[in-house]
Amino acid sequence: MLTSKPRGTNDIIPGETELWQKIEAIITSLARNYGYREIRTPIFEHTELFLRGVGENTDIVDKEMYTFEDKGGRSLTLRPEGTAAVARAYLENKMYAWPQPVKMYYLGPMFRHDRPQAGRYRQFHQFGVEIFGTSHPASDAEVIHLCMAFYQLIGLENLELHINSVGCPQCREILRQKLMAYFESHRNDLCSICRQRVERNPLRILDCKNKICRDAGKDAPTPLDCLCQECRDHFASVRRYLDVQQIAYIVNPRLVRGLDYYTKTAFEVIAPDIGAQSAIGGGGRYDGLVETCGGPHIPGVGFAIGLERTISVIRKQGLEQETHRLMAFVAMAGDTEDVATRIIYTLRQAGVSCDRDYIGRSLKAQMKYASKINAKYVVIVGEDELARGNVTLRDMDTGKQYEVELDKLVAEIKSNTC
Ligand code: AMP
Repeated sequence: MLTSKPRGTNDIIPGETELWQKIEAIITSLARNYGYREIRTPIFEHTELFLRGVGENTDIVDKEMYTFEDKGGRSLTLRPEGTAAVARAYLENKMYAWPQPVKMYYLGPMFRHDRPQAGRYRQFHQFGVEIFGTSHPASDAEVIHLCMAFYQLIGLENLELHINSVGCPQCREILRQKLMAYFESHRNDLCSICRQRVERNPLRILDCKNKICRDAGKDAPTPLDCLCQECRDHFASVRRYLDVQQIAYIVNPRLVRGLDYYTKTAFEVIAPDIGAQSAIGGGGRYDGLVETCGGPHIPGVGFAIGLERTISVIRKQGLEQETHRLMAFVAMAGDTEDVATRIIYTLRQAGVSCDRDYIGRSLKAQMKYASKINAKYVVIVGEDELARGNVTLRDMDTGKQYEVELDKLVAEIKSNTC
């Protein structure tokens, strides 16, 4: 118990954090490049926010929330997703009074109490963006573009972008009625979960992965069959912007996404390479969310990308590169620790990463250790060389070894590594 983590969580340990940091750096520069600024909201919120914002009939709220009562008797929930919290922060901080639209991104852990399996965790990380304050179809296309640009920068291949329009609340109500009628007569052909969805949330039956539900729903009406003129025009316009930006997509009329707040555009990115949990990101428009959270009518659009699944595609596609390497290991031979300590300090100040032995190893063992930790150079600080004002520099890749004047050491290492 004491040495095992809670189910569905992951340690991200040295050797893995380097890739996370690289991805985080890409996120920060990409988001900035598109004009988004970072927002950091609390890890937990009032439960009510998710009940109302995400929707009581969704899987997330219905089954997956980490809800607890604090000492003051308030019901709090570890955030299962980012958008509702960002909408709450937008309202609370009166961002509607800022110049519109307000474009923000976030990065951090989310929590869902689901049955853990490969690609599905109870704590996982999302990178997400939100644009509040415009319903312009170009903003839908922008977030889709940004999402795909992220995958492209990371180097992922063979991704599928699925898009759909789930319409406005009026279109959805028409669809809901039609779907209820349709699935009522196919109820016995549905999985046990979808049977319960017929009245509560028939839209979700459309994207159930269960084969029997797929078969039962093959002639069911889809959102695209029920769009009003405005939603139809909006979707056509989003597609035109995507075409202009040369983004390849598949119109998937069955895509509905799991959350109640979506209106009009819905999209998902699929990586067929990683098995069952192949959705690596998704998003859409949520014009009713801010109002649902108690604010004015403010449209919005955004996405969330799952970082664990993204990383799993990176590994599957063999794209992981070694990103961190210690530049220099300073080995001590004889009574040279004081000089070695000063050398380490000087190297670090000059931006050359370096380390030393703390176990009292012999010189031979220090060399072995330096090789094991994959240091690029070993600086051997020996009494004989020091007497000449020198240290020995060994290039661990080539095995080449030579003496360098002490005050030229930094320049020598830098000139070889730049
Ligand atoms: P969603 O808004 O639920 O579609 O989540 C957006 C993305 O987060 C998904 O496409 C996944 O990549 C990722 N994601 C969602 N739930 C989990 C989970 N339980 N474990 C790992 N990643 C997840």
